Amino acid sequence: MNYNPKSLQAEEFISHEEILETLRFADEKKNDRAYIESILEKAKPIYNPNGSLHCGGLNHREASVLLACEIPDLNEKMIKLAEEIKLAFYGNRIVLFAPLYLSNYCVNGCTYCPYHAKNKTIARRKLTQEEIRQEVIALQDMGHKRLALEAGEDPVHNPIEYILESIKTIYSIHHKNGDIRRVNVNIAATTVENYRKLKEAGIGTYILFQETYHKKAYEELHPTGPKHDYRYHTEAMDRAMEGGIDDVGIGVLFGLDKYRYEFAGLLMHAEHLEAVHGVGPHTISVPRLKKADDIDPTQFDNGIDDEIFSKIIACIRIAVPYTGMIISTRESEEVRKKALSMGISQISGASRTSVGGYTDQERPHDTEQFDVSDQRTLDEVVKWLMDLGYIPSFCTACYREGRTGDRFMALCKSGQIQNCCHPNALMTLAEYLTDYASPETGKCGEELIEKELATIPNANRSRIAGEHIKSIYKSNKR
Ligand code: SAM
Repeated sequence: MNYNPKSLQAEEFISHEEILETLRFADEKKNDRAYIESILEKAKPIYNPNGSLHCGGLNHREASVLLACEIPDLNEKMIKLAEEIKLAFYGNRIVLFAPLYLSNYCVNGCTYCPYHAKNKTIARRKLTQEEIRQEVIALQDMGHKRLALEAGEDPVHNPIEYILESIKTIYSIHHKNGDIRRVNVNIAATTVENYRKLKEAGIGTYILFQETYHKKAYEELHPTGPKHDYRYHTEAMDRAMEGGIDDVGIGVLFGLDKYRYEFAGLLMHAEHLEAVHGVGPHTISVPRLKKADDIDPTQFDNGIDDEIFSKIIACIRIAVPYTGMIISTRESEEVRKKALSMGISQISGASRTSVGGYTDQERPHDTEQFDVSDQRTLDEVVKWLMDLGYIPSFCTACYREGRTGDRFMALCKSGQIQNCCHPNALMTLAEYLTDYASPETGKCGEELIEKELATIPNANRSRIAGEHIKSIYKSNKR
């Protein structure tokens, strides 16, 4: 490969020709045992005596060979390697968040999304600042600390000023025990100036899914509206970084085009960001197309089964070991369980994908973006994670301490995560147990915290975390 991600714009770098060449290469090598073994060897984490870790990751061609691999025992080895990398860099912590839908007004014509402008059956709704307050209080009362804001693209109904005002409202709500400490934002591609404003408003990650990296398919799937512009959409993360946002989250909507094509494009996007901005994506999301109002996913014939879906997650984990991975409630409990061990580090819980959904007793469907498969409460999700041996984490410390972008990556690479993220996760779990958990979840959590405190390598940090946790338990005001 002789072309340089640094010297090209994202749109040129993620080229159709290179993706096709990658797929040809993967087909040629997919049964080449020696080559695949050499890639797996190269991708293994190296544990240095000083406690630091190194994992070289893979480029899009190498990772595409893994995804295409047809040798059963090497596929099993691949899954084990993904599990090892996950454990090495992210431990057994799983960060929890919830989406908050502000508005479903949208001027775009995305053929797979029920918010598309021509859909006359969906009820259009935009939250007022008072309604946002009520939604956020409902989320805080569950125990959430981290939100992902969602909105359609509509310069009249949802201008950037509305998004900024909503962020300000959210950060200003101090209700009982629960502040929202990190607001991530998933809104349409915008200008450098607007990204700068979002950064100044204190957002965490800016998330934007590419939907598909296949330009021709992209243009057909987005026939009308500003989102039709493939280049503008593909270069959004470069503008975001130019505007000062150093944590960006990418993803494709699996089901729209061929998964191997999307996978190569996704990794090339990550390579481009790393090469040009010195830091790759903070997160990668793996949404799959779902049934929704006036959208039948069977009309798109690129759906993937659960087995391929898991393999994609494992291959992303191996290729970009330092990048967080997100799975939403689009997926069922069973699929999420499998995905957790292979690389997922963040999940949503108790999500409502409707505008105003958290203040309604009944799950409302009339303004919903897509069907939610995992409909459990946050308490149930927290208990389930602990039963599976994970630490549910509500931690936002890196963002609050300014450890974003390359500073976060440096911490992740140094192997200090176990001394830093692990105690923080336990403290935020103790807060959750004290303030919100059911008695059963509380008991299970206290036992888990006791056990996990002993695994913090630095004895002093373990002792300090233990003292903090004791004082959190004592402060129980419920
Ligand atoms: N409007 C913003 C944009 O244009 O990027 C983003 C907000 S939208 C609420 C969030 C994401 O939902 C989209 O990027 C798309 O990938 C996903 N989505 C849309 N329709 C979906 C469907 N039927 N099933 C699953 N996910 C869907």
